[in-house]
Amino acid sequence: MRSVPAICTCVALGLALLAPGCGAPGPGGEGDVTILTGVRFWTGDPDHPWADGLLVEEGRIRELLSREEIPRVLAHGGKVIDLPGALAVPGLVDAHGHLLGYGLARRRADLVGARTLDEALERVRAFAAAHPGDPWVLGRGWDQEDWPGHAWPTADRLEETVPGRPCALWRVDGHALWVNRTALREAGIDAATPDPPGGKILRAPDGTPTGILLDAAEELVTGRIPPPSPELAEEILADVARDLLAKGLAGFHAMSVSRVEWEALVRLARTGRFPLRAWAYAEWGDPLAEELLESGPRDEGRLHLVGVKLFADGALGSRGARLLEPYADDPGNRGIWVTPPDELERRIRAAMERGLQPAVHAIGDAANHELLGIYRRLLAGHPEWASLRPRVEHAQVVPPGDIPLFGELPVVASMQPTHATSDMPWAEERLGRARLAGAYAWRSILSAGGHLAFGSDVPVESCDPRLGLWAAVTRQDLDGNPPGGWLPDQRLTLPEAIAAFSAGAAWAVRREDDLGRLAPGYLADLTVFDRDVVAAFEEGDPRALLDARVTATVIGGTPWFPRAHEPGEAR
Ligand SMILES: [Zn+2]
Repeated sequence: MRSVPAICTCVALGLALLAPGCGAPGPGGEGDVTILTGVRFWTGDPDHPWADGLLVEEGRIRELLSREEIPRVLAHGGKVIDLPGALAVPGLVDAHGHLLGYGLARRRADLVGARTLDEALERVRAFAAAHPGDPWVLGRGWDQEDWPGHAWPTADRLEETVPGRPCALWRVDGHALWVNRTALREAGIDAATPDPPGGKILRAPDGTPTGILLDAAEELVTGRIPPPSPELAEEILADVARDLLAKGLAGFHAMSVSRVEWEALVRLARTGRFPLRAWAYAEWGDPLAEELLESGPRDEGRLHLVGVKLFADGALGSRGARLLEPYADDPGNRGIWVTPPDELERRIRAAMERGLQPAVHAIGDAANHELLGIYRRLLAGHPEWASLRPRVEHAQVVPPGDIPLFGELPVVASMQPTHATSDMPWAEERLGRARLAGAYAWRSILSAGGHLAFGSDVPVESCDPRLGLWAAVTRQDLDGNPPGGWLPDQRLTLPEAIAAFSAGAAWAVRREDDLGRLAPGYLADLTVFDRDVVAAFEEGDPRALLDARVTATVIGGTPWFPRAHEPGEAR
């Protein structure tokens, strides 16, 4: 046993779910100095990759400690926290996700993984029966690519399942909405309704809507669904914060944030109920974005409202991603411009003039090509905007000739490894073999000198970072298929993948000087695992990632412990 002034040995079991640990440093007094130990620390710093302890003062790392140095430091007092587990890495950050969307998805009909149309309909029927008071029956997560025949579902089948109540169900990627006849009627959509700019209503040969609304056409219906009240938004986001901490996330880049969502986050952060660091991007068109274009960026403790979210195109699964050449499996269709390039450039310029960071969704090769061209032009005219680090969200299918631009321009490649492994069963059908050369090409972008920031796009994918790390290093599904990985040249090493979820995410928000690695002066944000996944990877066992459990998430030196070591949901 050590004899030190204040030993506080925390073990995960027995503490309240995600209560802050007993090592929470208080303001002033001896609580200011904390020694974190008990695990090996992988620092993310190639010059000093390992440490046995961290001396933390007021939330920041003052010193990396070796095993031999710990007794010397303990002699000076301070609080000791023995972290449970085996390995701590720099706090993992999800660099692209939807906080309120995730929280709402957790309370709606869950169609993820339904293997047939009938199974999806049965889940909707059961959910509607269990929620008789909901004026709208809402759900998400269906994917017709998982069903025999791959046909789009219809309003008529949904009306049979939920008769007389409006029902709206988002596709897994959020870029298609399946509605029943009642919802179409309530929204006033019929054969005479034109496709809105940036959207498409799928129709029968006689023009009758079939029940599928793509991209901007979704708003014809979603505009009728009442948003959550401020109180409900708070409750939902507090739940989400607990969930993210339990999954090992210390930070989050929140996309498409509305005013309701931002104001709820601010109230939660002020009362300690949202302790993560978060960087928010207001949805273009929402009142929050209008305010930001007046006021410029805002800070609120650990919350930062830094930019705006824009869409160039749609998604690949719903053939809304904008391509240079037609879809291989839909000749004549090149996808959708959700925002035409001229208008996109105007909006990006307006944002950057106000010091706002643009975060622009670009999936198809035409969308990525245009967006990179816009960034190149604007940055050439305004070199001072380089510090804003404009973001390419998804960078999913990039013309191979444009990949070097990710190294030449100060832009962020905000990518989601699990999108590759979710899309791999059908991406080649959509794109053909040749276009795969620039698809989900994170290794090529990194080799070109690009800056990867990894995330999940939750609720499109699970935000469990172990799944993202697994996809990044194996390019396989959870069963290990395909053997050797899909387009395996694009695999990363585990240290590279962890860096994309930490240092890369920090670079994306201009915080590489105090976040994303464990070094003196850096904030003490950590994700702690029950096993050494880095050593296991080096020994050829990436599967340790899937078996690993998060035992603590540390933010600014304060640990949060999940009570039960439940694995995150996997898909
Ligand atoms: Zn997204």
